[in-house]
Amino acid sequence: MAQPARPRGGYCPGDHRILGNALPGILLQVSVPEQHLSSLVAERRRGLSRLRFSSFVEEEFRQYYVRLNFPKVRPLLVIAAAAVIGFTSLGIYQQNISALTAIFGLAVMLPLFMATLVCTYEPQRHAMYQALLALSLLCLGLIISSLTLRASLHGTPYHFAGQVTWIMVVWLALGLRFWSAAATSLLITGCYIWGLYNWDIGPRQTLFEVLMLVGVNGIGALCCFQLEATTRDAFRDKRMLEDQAERDGLTGLYNRRVYNAYMERIWRQSQREQSQLTVMLIDIDHFKRYNDIYGHQAGDDALKKVAGVIAMGAQRPLDLAARYGGEEFALVLYGSANDSNRDLPEQIRCNVEDLCIPHAGSSAGSFLTISIGVAVITPGAERSLAGAVQMADEALYQAKEEGRNRVIVKESRLTPIETGRFRADRRAASG
Ligand code: GH3
Ligand code: MG
Ligand code: MG
Repeated sequence: MAQPARPRGGYCPGDHRILGNALPGILLQVSVPEQHLSSLVAERRRGLSRLRFSSFVEEEFRQYYVRLNFPKVRPLLVIAAAAVIGFTSLGIYQQNISALTAIFGLAVMLPLFMATLVCTYEPQRHAMYQALLALSLLCLGLIISSLTLRASLHGTPYHFAGQVTWIMVVWLALGLRFWSAAATSLLITGCYIWGLYNWDIGPRQTLFEVLMLVGVNGIGALCCFQLEATTRDAFRDKRMLEDQAERDGLTGLYNRRVYNAYMERIWRQSQREQSQLTVMLIDIDHFKRYNDIYGHQAGDDALKKVAGVIAMGAQRPLDLAARYGGEEFALVLYGSANDSNRDLPEQIRCNVEDLCIPHAGSSAGSFLTISIGVAVITPGAERSLAGAVQMADEALYQAKEEGRNRVIVKESRLTPIETGRFRADRRAASG
């Protein structure tokens, strides 16, 4: 199946798991924000007649949907596995099941149930979960169908109840998506009807059971379809609200609240894994004058364009671009510094200059420019998060002092950072 298109530098389903669940609803990666939100809006407009989102939202929904159903599926799988062991052992002890049935129970069904159960605990195997669950239900359906047909032959009362219960479980109880449930249920129903014709059950009973199966499957399908459509509706609206709460209204970048939460977590992760963290603070040069000369509306447009360039810098799942406040932005890169990483600040600076937004009031050039302070840190126990950000702030301050439209990089492995000292030192020196 073709993978849904991913927005550039954008959301990759499942990435947020890397940082665990401590930030529910906050996706720790950058997407080109307007693309992300407009995909959700477009989904809303399109409706759900096909039970499928047409963008990367589909993958996100599937992961959400399987997780939603784990609490009820897990105990049922444990009970089913115990039942297989119990019935097969009893059958072997009483010598009333065939060797084939015993082998099918212990060598096929039991491992299948256990594999499905294991999948619910391992996020990287969630993609296989629906298929394994459908397969488990198919096996169970085969056993139930053959028992029901046997009972039918011997005239045992109420034998049909087991078949009906199984059909309803498939459609409604375990959170199979509509098309998986349809394939599973219709396959077993087909097998059962085939059995009815071939096992000489009798025309009246065959007619009754076929009509019952059609009715039960129809009701199950209708309810399953509506359930999934409603869940999809709710999921899409929830994601839209989350997206709006996490983003800055003007630029579409992540807002300060997300940035703060992200920094706390990514800092702990980088300490735990001793990974490098690159913090960039980006400030537009002489933006007050820009507003004064061209007006606030033009200022807003310029901010959006600059934000667009910065968003493209967050290419990897754990990178984040945010509006830090006013005309300041933060771009945080997680992980080792490869070559493209090292060149990125300078690239961003050039790309903003290449936007060619005229700025008559700038001392740094004839176009709108930015200054970037970069702190490259391998966190150690003696270092604080505030100190790391302060280091980037200090670099930005230096970039401004040295004439703007430039990048200053500060790299620190060992020297402890004394938060706030640099401004105090400068003030003391100048005054
Ligand atoms: P420097 O080069 O030293 O950074 O100078 P600056 O003028 O950019 O810095 P200063 O902090 O003096 O001014 C920031 C300006 O950014 C002031 C404010 O009007 C403008 N600004 C902040 N947020 C917005 C916004 O959302 N829209 C617009 N149009 N302007 C904004
Ligand atoms: Mg500023
Ligand atoms: Mg500025």
